[in-house]
Amino acid sequence: MAAQNTPDAGRTYKLNAKGIPEDLVAYGNGKIPANALGQVGGTRHKLWAPAAQKLTQMIADAQQDGVKIGITDSYRPYEEQVDLARRKGLYSQGGLAAKPGTSEHGWGMATDLDLNPEALAWMRKNADRYGFVENVKRESWHWAFRPNT
Ligand SMILES: [Zn+2]
Repeated sequence: MAAQNTPDAGRTYKLNAKGIPEDLVAYGNGKIPANALGQVGGTRHKLWAPAAQKLTQMIADAQQDGVKIGITDSYRPYEEQVDLARRKGLYSQGGLAAKPGTSEHGWGMATDLDLNPEALAWMRKNADRYGFVENVKRESWHWAFRPNT
């Protein structure tokens, strides 16, 4: 019952074993329809709608603290992941791209941020309050969204 008393208790999302909302799993990685995505602030970037909302709020709050958070990447359709894997190589081969169909970007559940050292420190201190976690060790720009946090 405690969850209902949290400040912005929205709905609780049903997640699969990998932490992906079942709604999104039904669409498929990189195949999320426009109506399930939300725009991040006034940018061209999109994420799964609840994640977009939290990211927009987080960037605004950081700005209040005098910290600038930029976005370099967000939701990535399947074809773009294929292209990225071709250009940057797969993780499994020492590159910088997830196998198409597996990227958190394909779920609209991760964003790549443009962070100066001050912004990175701010993120490490505050991002979890918005549901964002740093979950790829050698990619301090990559932040994944964890619903229900
Ligand atoms: Zn990323």
